[in-house]
Amino acid sequence: MSDKFYSRLDQELAGIKDAGLWKVERPFSTPQGPIVRVGDGPELLNLCANNYLGLANDSEVVAAAEEANRRWGAGLASVRFICGTQDIHKELEAETAAYFGYEDAILFAAAFDANGAVFEPLFGPDDAIISDTLNHASIIDGVRLSKARRYRYATNDMGDLERALTEAKAEGACQIVIVTDGVFSMDGTIANLGAITALAKRFDALTLVDDCHASGFLGPQGRGSAAYRGVEGQIDILTGTYGKALGGAMGGFVAAKRQVVDLLRQRARPYLFSNALAPSICGASLAAIRIARSERGDLLRAQLAENSARFRDGLEHLGYDLIPGEHPIIPIMLYDAHKAQALAAALYEAGVYVTPFSFPVVPRDLARIRVQMSAALTPAHIDRALDAFASAGRKLEIIA
Ligand SMILES: *Cc1c(COP(=O)(O)O)cnc(C)c1O
Repeated sequence: MSDKFYSRLDQELAGIKDAGLWKVERPFSTPQGPIVRVGDGPELLNLCANNYLGLANDSEVVAAAEEANRRWGAGLASVRFICGTQDIHKELEAETAAYFGYEDAILFAAAFDANGAVFEPLFGPDDAIISDTLNHASIIDGVRLSKARRYRYATNDMGDLERALTEAKAEGACQIVIVTDGVFSMDGTIANLGAITALAKRFDALTLVDDCHASGFLGPQGRGSAAYRGVEGQIDILTGTYGKALGGAMGGFVAAKRQVVDLLRQRARPYLFSNALAPSICGASLAAIRIARSERGDLLRAQLAENSARFRDGLEHLGYDLIPGEHPIIPIMLYDAHKAQALAAALYEAGVYVTPFSFPVVPRDLARIRVQMSAALTPAHIDRALDAFASAGRKLEIIA
């Protein structure tokens, strides 16, 4: 016991609250979906899940999870290489690799782990990792764990990327890898993968893309940001999640050439020292990928795009300040943490559930509400949400 230690934590916690940065968790009494409830409270329209295709509580996906649970048991009680690999793990790896067009894929407990795992075994002290400044926290942590030299470029700034590449080359980097989110999760910006792959070619660099906010719904057949940008087959290493559009259970993957995946199986620490994915998760993820690849996937993506356009237009019409784009992530800029919190609270009262984002998730002066569209939302849901945004925004004098 150290009273000094605990009072230091109390002070830090109070500081977070005072700054308007306190994040609350609201426990649902329902499955994830377009309509949720907290306890026995009223129905809430849910506009902040990563449930892009609406598969998180899809009957086919849930049935596949149940079936896998029955067929393969609750879990492996082992890491993969000791005695924790079943056919369903190999099946999910093969389906993932085939979907995204890679030779092989390897599963992790989360995309956070995939990104934490991928750099250290592949890149040594003579290599250079060039990373976009807005890359996800898990990439930043993964890069930190490797011994490679680190370079950063201003987000999506291709001139600055070229500068970093030139610098890395001049400083004698052996292998260079350019690392970017396929979609930046706070802004919904889709990375300029055309320019990035062209620069990679010029500098003989590899490319690594984290497509967590794209896999399953962006580009033809939902094959992701490279497919969307027309540079499919030119991304060397892909990391992604099953915890968003692809079923929403959990789990991550790295897809790449055989040698990359083989080496990760031998050396990646979050793979070697952590439990195999539960069969039910593999079953749900397999079903989700198969839906995403099918004609039903096309229908879901069409609905998602229609919902995104309808909501964006409606908010712009009301006078909200949005970051422009065409992704189902729609950031509504408030620039002030207290304002973002007040708007989210007023919307909640009106039965619309959104989450305010403030520091440290976004820069201090760029607080916002990030809305995310889902194929499970209907046009009537969208219009109801717009009505709530109209009255709450006027009451708080955010819009006229
Ligand atoms: C959500 C997300 C992750 C983490 O995915 P998990 O599977 O939930 O760990 C990693 N990278 C990006 C860009 C993400 O948006």
